[in-house]
Amino acid sequence: MDPFDNHTSERANLPRNMIENSMFEEEPDVVDLAKDSSAFPTFPALDPDEVVYEPRSSRLLVRGLGENEMDEDEEDCESSARLLGMSFMNRSSAHRSSSSPYTRQSPPRSCSRPSARTMVVCVLFLVIVASMTMVLYFLPGCTFTRAGCRKPNKTSPLEPVYPLSTNGELFPWTQYRLPRSIHPLSYDLTLNPNLDTLTFTGISVISMSVLHNTKVIVLHSSDLNITKATFKIGDKKASDVTLLEYKPRQQIAVKFSEELKAGQHCVLTLEYSAKLSHTYDGFYNSSYTDKDGQKRVLAATQFEPLSARKAFPCFDEPSFKATFLIRISRKPEYMTLSNMPKAKINQLPSGLMQDEFERTSVNMSTYLVAFIIADFSHLSRNVSDTLVSVYSVPEKTEHTDYALDTGAKLLEFYNEFCEINYPLKKLDLVAIPDFLAGAMENWGLITFRETSLLVGKQSSSLEKQVVASVIAHELAHQWFGNLVTMSWWNDLWLNEGFATYMQYTSLQTVLPQLDIGNLFLSVRFRALDKDALNSSHPVSTEVDSPEEVEEMFDSVSYEKGASILLMLNASLPIEQQFRKGIIQYLKEFSGSNADTNDLWNSLTEVEVSPQHLNVSEMMNSWTSQKGFPLVTVSRKGDQVTLTQEHFLLTADNATHNSSLWTIPVTYVNDSCSLAPECRQVFTLKTKSGSFKVPESVKWLKLNYRHSGFYIVHYGDEGWAALVSALSTNATVLTQDDRASLIHNIFALSRLGRVTFNQVLNLLNYMSNETETSPVLEALLQLNNIYRLLDKRHETKLVARMKSYIMHHFGSLMRKQTWEEEESVSKQELRSALLETACNLNEENCTQQARALFKKYVESNGTLRIPGDLQQVVFNVAAQSDEDWETLLNLYSVVTFDAEKRKMLRGLASTQDARRIVWILKAGLKGDIIQTQELPLVISTVCSGFTGYLFVWDFIQQNWDLLIERFPVGSFAIQSIIKSATSQFSTQAHLDQVKSFFLSLKERGSQMRSVQEALETIRLNQRWMDENLSTLHNWL
Ligand SMILES: [Zn+2]
Repeated sequence: MDPFDNHTSERANLPRNMIENSMFEEEPDVVDLAKDSSAFPTFPALDPDEVVYEPRSSRLLVRGLGENEMDEDEEDCESSARLLGMSFMNRSSAHRSSSSPYTRQSPPRSCSRPSARTMVVCVLFLVIVASMTMVLYFLPGCTFTRAGCRKPNKTSPLEPVYPLSTNGELFPWTQYRLPRSIHPLSYDLTLNPNLDTLTFTGISVISMSVLHNTKVIVLHSSDLNITKATFKIGDKKASDVTLLEYKPRQQIAVKFSEELKAGQHCVLTLEYSAKLSHTYDGFYNSSYTDKDGQKRVLAATQFEPLSARKAFPCFDEPSFKATFLIRISRKPEYMTLSNMPKAKINQLPSGLMQDEFERTSVNMSTYLVAFIIADFSHLSRNVSDTLVSVYSVPEKTEHTDYALDTGAKLLEFYNEFCEINYPLKKLDLVAIPDFLAGAMENWGLITFRETSLLVGKQSSSLEKQVVASVIAHELAHQWFGNLVTMSWWNDLWLNEGFATYMQYTSLQTVLPQLDIGNLFLSVRFRALDKDALNSSHPVSTEVDSPEEVEEMFDSVSYEKGASILLMLNASLPIEQQFRKGIIQYLKEFSGSNADTNDLWNSLTEVEVSPQHLNVSEMMNSWTSQKGFPLVTVSRKGDQVTLTQEHFLLTADNATHNSSLWTIPVTYVNDSCSLAPECRQVFTLKTKSGSFKVPESVKWLKLNYRHSGFYIVHYGDEGWAALVSALSTNATVLTQDDRASLIHNIFALSRLGRVTFNQVLNLLNYMSNETETSPVLEALLQLNNIYRLLDKRHETKLVARMKSYIMHHFGSLMRKQTWEEEESVSKQELRSALLETACNLNEENCTQQARALFKKYVESNGTLRIPGDLQQVVFNVAAQSDEDWETLLNLYSVVTFDAEKRKMLRGLASTQDARRIVWILKAGLKGDIIQTQELPLVISTVCSGFTGYLFVWDFIQQNWDLLIERFPVGSFAIQSIIKSATSQFSTQAHLDQVKSFFLSLKERGSQMRSVQEALETIRLNQRWMDENLSTLHNWL
């Protein structure tokens, strides 16, 4: 419900907002206003939503100074308050005080009855206000800009509050988020891209409805040269208006001398020109080389999260949903695509064609708008009432069958699962040659990297697994994200956590042969690893800047989001309850926006038995606080006691130790441990809790199949019992449970709760382990330690570590074949084992790989290396001078993208310093190696010994170029920082990393990934200090 609708009549009588009335009609100097309190006959109304974003300090003042209307009795109190508060009010950017009844706080009573008691309270209040004013006033270096105290300015505390527009006038809006007074209803967009000059012109006609009286319209525009602006209300004639622009916030505004009234309809028409972007966002140009060696240019869009404003002026926030009618002109030899089917084609006098698309049949957020101008070809099929097509560059049409088939199956699955049919008449899946993200879920026009959509005729099932899971993720978004959209980016997880969860669960049903379960399990382990850091954040987190929005695209939103949904589904007592709740949520919020509580409420509403979990209560504990619990088990006879605490690797923030979660703890024991029926549940809501088991129970395994998002410590005896059980018979637990024990014990070692000897005791059973998940997890953990030791020049330990790995996994490695293998799970196992073996220079492995590469080269394209073995073969080849050159030649001619990427990783795995420098530079330059691949190149180079220090230098030297290519905070930048720093473990490196990022200031020093990097280095350092001696003794 819109909270403002209740107050519409009251609101009309209220004094105008300071922004809209006092300040911008006459544009007085704000500082002068501060001296003359009579400029403010009352404390004017704030635009209703503004209050929500006030910093806490200002909120106190706003509340005291008149959130409610004042009558005559109150005048004294008011004017005194004003005398004290006014100078502060006008210095502060966020202090347009409020007399709006629409604020979400109850009106204060302190000034309403001037009794003696009230007077005392008033005086006390004024003293507090005065003290706060003084404190805030003298805060060192703080000018109360919207950005808080980041901008030090000690000499001029009376800085104007409202920013200056590009034309020198005050810009009538000071917030990062747009005012809610105006809501767009529809956009008519006409775009004229010129692929020769790489520019475009456009006309954006925006019909809007006025929700609350206002004198200002504020919307987004970035890097657009707006040449003409006209405005009309209702049936009146359109007239020219002046646009104000405030570039730092990418906002434009129109001011009016008379109020626009609630309920009015108006139309803003903006004509503009711009350059096609050279990066990967906005309306960008891209090119590819066709089979005749000709360069072909195309233009495509990537708007999520904040780049629709780079293609057309718009209200670029997810809750400003509207319909879109799009027209695009093109040369006759090109084709265009957009969200909707084509309605008609017009011949323009210039000889160009203009494609007009149907108006979107649904209200849509701006970040989901998309269009493409290219010369692609396609395959299509009808599924239910939807025409599904897969587009690619013409040479690659033969690689689109698999995507079409998979897309069709998944569309049917989601139509049925969600009980709401996909609402558009067509669904295009398009492979774009230049694309940074894996894919983007634009409604009706999903864009992909070529690797995420195209599958070669002989591709392995592991390659198909990648494509199927990306398609499953993006199709899930058509409901989770597109139909129901998060209200603001703080709840990005509602889009991404859901799409990630659905991507795995849909494939388990639709394509069970792809064994997606192993991947989902390892994804949950990695989410725990990240969330164990103090630098992590709650799933639902406040975001208030572009960098913070970008940073939400991380494993907490995606993987932790998916993990807690899995946990919830597993803990609901009635089958299908989760699905019913989801359907209810989709139906209730279809076509609009929702936040996290809306989801929990929908799930709670379908709850069938009141004695069971309260979904909201349980899930709030998982979404509103960062991190996850460590559950420690202790046992005395038949009594089992569980205690919970925050699993925090670096506990320098004591406040989080009081965190509590509602944990649906599951457990099995030695008498019944494999089948789902063995699973028992105990809900731990408090710090500790107990339950009973028969005394005969030898061991307990908690977190059955690792469906819960927590780590378990069994205590010395509990671990010893599990180790003994596994060493007798590894199959007493499911492979997921074995992998979960391995993950947990490494994490506990990192936390300092178990010794490294205990880790090794558990790993002793590994020589009997043959299943994929436990082997993959153990190898990953051991390889991490191997790399750390390698980079600390602990040569002896490195050699011993190698023999340890070979001792435990050697026989399994030797059992692996080099022929085609059908099972995805076996492919995963084989590629991990052989990559480790060859990386450790195990001779049998490297010989086989070299021989296979030789055959492959000699066959001239007729022999194919099995897809899951390509990486290990290319890695080995790249270590020899001659084969590296051969591989580079192959890389430049091979067309199939998945194979090409593996070649690139091979090339980047070289230990030749000159080649490493060359490949880093080539990745940045973007001609031989596409810049979209730079994060991959960097992570590969960093895993080797030779390159990781080069990378660190490279990043420092080229930081500005990097953030030009990839936005600050973006997933690409997060990945680059992590790759470059996560293997440092010395004080010297910690100091270097700290001082470099500190020097960046607004160019990235505030990023969460920087905090994460510093924390990880400290942890590595601590782990080394604590464990090097154990390792020396052990190995
Ligand atoms: Zn997604």
